[in-house]
Amino acid sequence: MKRDYYEVLGLSKGATKDDIKAAYRKLAKQYHPDLNKAPDAAKKFEEIQEAYDVLYDDNKRKIYDQYGQAAFEQGASMGGAGNPFAGGFNFGGQGFGDVDLGDIFDSFFGTGGRRRQTSTGPRKGNDTLYRVRISFMDAVKGTTVNVPVDYEEPCSRCHGTGAETPDDYVTCPECGGTGTVRTRTQTIFGTMESQAACPRCGGSGKIVRKACSACGGKGYTRIRKTLEVKIPQGINSGQQVRISGKGERGRNGGPNGDLYVEIVVASSDKFTREGNDIHSTIELSFVDCALGCKADCETVNGVMSVEVPAGTQPDAILKLKGQGVSDLRTHKPGDHYVHVKVRTPTKLSETQKSLLREFQVQEGSKKKGFGSFFKR
Ligand SMILES: [Zn+2]
Ligand SMILES: [Zn+2]
Repeated sequence: MKRDYYEVLGLSKGATKDDIKAAYRKLAKQYHPDLNKAPDAAKKFEEIQEAYDVLYDDNKRKIYDQYGQAAFEQGASMGGAGNPFAGGFNFGGQGFGDVDLGDIFDSFFGTGGRRRQTSTGPRKGNDTLYRVRISFMDAVKGTTVNVPVDYEEPCSRCHGTGAETPDDYVTCPECGGTGTVRTRTQTIFGTMESQAACPRCGGSGKIVRKACSACGGKGYTRIRKTLEVKIPQGINSGQQVRISGKGERGRNGGPNGDLYVEIVVASSDKFTREGNDIHSTIELSFVDCALGCKADCETVNGVMSVEVPAGTQPDAILKLKGQGVSDLRTHKPGDHYVHVKVRTPTKLSETQKSLLREFQVQEGSKKKGFGSFFKR
């Protein structure tokens, strides 16, 4: 017979969450098997842990207050399942230990998620994924997206039991509350005995005599709504935002899975992004590159003036420090890199041509000058 969880933690029924945490901390330290060498310390520690797990979780505590220990005991009787091959074929003398049929089928068929089919303990629901496409600039600056959610949560009237009153939630007579039944199958190897979830109670060990009038006995209600999900600035394609508890329903009182909102960022015709750095190109005339100038350059933070030094070469890269994307976590901004493309004029006026010829002559004499310098 288990002790009352409140008694285990030395609390009254009206204890606050802080009281529970404080009591747990104190007792856990006192009975931690690493620190306390008394023979019953480990057992005490486990008891404290279990009491805390239930009382600190608002939903579990509500169920405990209403239904008592019984609501949490279904899993406990599962430990001594024994060898499912008892009475069957001996596979070359190697014991299969506590491997159950579920495990073996999983490894054959690769259904990794379905381990221990006969387990009746609480299990977290599967996570779900929702992909949403956002614009390039929304990813840089952060945004809010609407995500339609469709999930199930425990019925507030029956707290997930599906029973109209606590008295209508009773131990399953078919399996005596263990949640499992043993079946024997004739195979070419002989008789194989295996465990399966009880067909009467579906493995929960409990049945409902009178169904809850709010949820019709299902124990949960379906919620469909649209959530506004904040997407932080600096997010990139493939990154996910987790929305806790909005995934698939948990089993046997386990919590819901989580919903992951995966971001797909559209490309931009102005910028490319590498991590938190931004790259763009700018076209400048060869004259501006030769003489140097100040050029306007579009960045994710608006138009900035970039200093083009005299003698800038084609494909030169100019850096605007700190004008990239703010890091998702540290908020430290990346940099903006401007790639210079040099524009060669195609339509020249006579005056421009004669000026360039003059330039050409000057360049030629400069070359000669260098030549004579080296000869000398
Ligand atoms: Zn049953
Ligand atoms: Zn209900």
